Amino acid sequence: MKVVDLRSDTITRPTPSMRRAMADAEVGDDVFGEDPTVNRLEEMAAERLNKGAALFVASGTMANLVSLLVHCGRGDEVILGDRSHTFFYEQGGSAGLGGIHPRTLPNKPDGTLGLNAIEEAIRPDNIHFPRTRLIVLENTHNRCSGNPLTPQYMKDVGEMAHRNGVKVHVDGARIFNAAVSLGIDASELASEADSVSFCLSKGLAAPVGSVVCGSHDFIDEARRARKVLGGGMRQAGVLAAAGIVALTEMVERLAEDHDNARRLAKDLTGAEGLSVDTENVKTNIVYINIDNNDISSNDLAERLSREGVLLLPTGPKQMRAVTNYHITANDVEHAAVVIRNEMNNC
Ligand SMILES: *Cc1c(COP(=O)(O)O)cnc(C)c1O
Repeated sequence: MKVVDLRSDTITRPTPSMRRAMADAEVGDDVFGEDPTVNRLEEMAAERLNKGAALFVASGTMANLVSLLVHCGRGDEVILGDRSHTFFYEQGGSAGLGGIHPRTLPNKPDGTLGLNAIEEAIRPDNIHFPRTRLIVLENTHNRCSGNPLTPQYMKDVGEMAHRNGVKVHVDGARIFNAAVSLGIDASELASEADSVSFCLSKGLAAPVGSVVCGSHDFIDEARRARKVLGGGMRQAGVLAAAGIVALTEMVERLAEDHDNARRLAKDLTGAEGLSVDTENVKTNIVYINIDNNDISSNDLAERLSREGVLLLPTGPKQMRAVTNYHITANDVEHAAVVIRNEMNNC
């Protein structure tokens, strides 16, 4: 049976050129700073994001945790969106491991936080209050339609934060999706950021890894934080080699994923018992809402999986489809037909 796996872009497997690069990678002990392939990836990433330095880490979760641990001490406060990945999907690690106090603000449907709302949330100096140290923005915003936040918004938040003595971390797990969708350079989305992380292992199809970028001083501290979290990897060049291919060969093609996501949303428009916010599909994520009272997202996911279409339940009545390197235009057309048929039989 044909299987169309739309659960996530994390399911992507390394490309043939990644596998070759991994097999041939020159390696050394990265904890000693001696893995030339890791060093090259970190230099490339820093250059791409126009920051002083970069650090290869095991995952996006580790990238965010390391960044928060460097920016905030115990009892310090971080402002972040209530739908942000860092707040929602990372086990509260910054509180559990770092004693960092989360202050959530409501994400608007486009993934932004109100500029005034953020400024009002920054604490004045008062013995009763924690100290606000950091604002986290997410771009693209995973749980807000995969929306790309504009360079103007990123800049406005950065300038306001710095006026108030607060730092900004950008969770840019899919920052290259944002850049491609907006037709700009990823560095334009991080120009005011004190740190920015991105995933190699999602739409860019590398098997493992994320990168954190920031100033030399920030990255020196981040390297210490990575080590204490157990993230000091040794001959990690075999992984970084795939990351280099991801950055050089896999960024521009994200536009195909975005086209396919729009096609899927369009093909599902008007499907029985479903609604899709087609206008807001700007990158590779499509949220599908179930309006039919008789079926839950888990039920529907189960029924569709028997037909070879895999979607991810993201709420009792919400499913997510994410296009990726392995998904063709034909695949999304096929998936839409299967989904429509299933809904007609509900
Ligand atoms: C996937 C994701 C992460 C975490 O990445 P992992 O590698 O799965 O730990 C962080 N932030 C966002 C927005 C993500 O989508």
